[in-house]
Amino acid sequence: MSNHTANDRKFIDFDRVVKRFGDLTVLNELSLGIDKGERVTLIGPSGSGKTTILRLLMTLEHVTPIKHAEENGGVIYLDGKPYSHTEKNGKLHVAHESELRDRRKKVGMVFQQFNLFPNMNVLRNVTEAPVHALKQDKDKAAERAKELLDMVGLSDKLDHYPSQLSGGQQQRVAIARALAMDPEVLLLDEVTSALDPELVADVLDVLRDVASSSDITMLIVTHEMSFAKDVSNRVMMFDKGVIVEEGAPEQIFNNPQEGRTQDFLRAVS
Ligand code: ADP
Repeated sequence: MSNHTANDRKFIDFDRVVKRFGDLTVLNELSLGIDKGERVTLIGPSGSGKTTILRLLMTLEHVTPIKHAEENGGVIYLDGKPYSHTEKNGKLHVAHESELRDRRKKVGMVFQQFNLFPNMNVLRNVTEAPVHALKQDKDKAAERAKELLDMVGLSDKLDHYPSQLSGGQQQRVAIARALAMDPEVLLLDEVTSALDPELVADVLDVLRDVASSSDITMLIVTHEMSFAKDVSNRVMMFDKGVIVEEGAPEQIFNNPQEGRTQDFLRAVS
């Protein structure tokens, strides 16, 4: 197990990853592997570590250092390369910040609370990162942004500011913004939880389009079980930072084997 080579690694590969917040151990030697192009939904009770997994992949959180990392696990790999870094006394180990910055470009995230830039109009929200982080030509970035905003049904709102949009519209801008970086991995963290019920369907329809028209790898945290069924090829049920059960959506949703999965699904349905 500790002699993995890069070739054995899955596209996204957590090798015995530990994540603690102070005394609270959220992930205790979690291992999981996801192939390129897979759509994986993470389900499980609140506090089971799902968002932490996404935030680690977005490098918004860092894994907790362990002794002899890599040999003993404790590392996230993306596309065969160590992706996580460990932090000790303010110093970074395992991967250099410049490498991380490059790899992070492969990953886009959409948050529950949209997190748009309030002082920028819709078009600028979408072009900002490609122009500044990827150094794309402004006109080219604007052209691509308009295509994406058309895809999410907002081509008539380019000059609007986030405060002038509904929650569902803001979330669709956030999806366009994430896709504008051309990520290989898209992380969706409860993207419909903050929306009024009548706005949920449009956002999910946009995401269904994204899933069916691209080969982007998706990790989805959602309580929308029918969406999870439609879009994902694998479902992982978490509890207290461990995978309780995983399988195809039909199997997990229609015929869960574990008591904790059965209880959870009963509670959310
Ligand atoms: P889920 O997404 O499954 O609801 P999370 O990954 O958000 O779970 O949280 C897992 C646990 O980690 C929870 O107990 C949560 O309170 C805790 N946690 C998450 N982020 C932090 C943080 N920044 N500081 C302290 N505790 C945190």
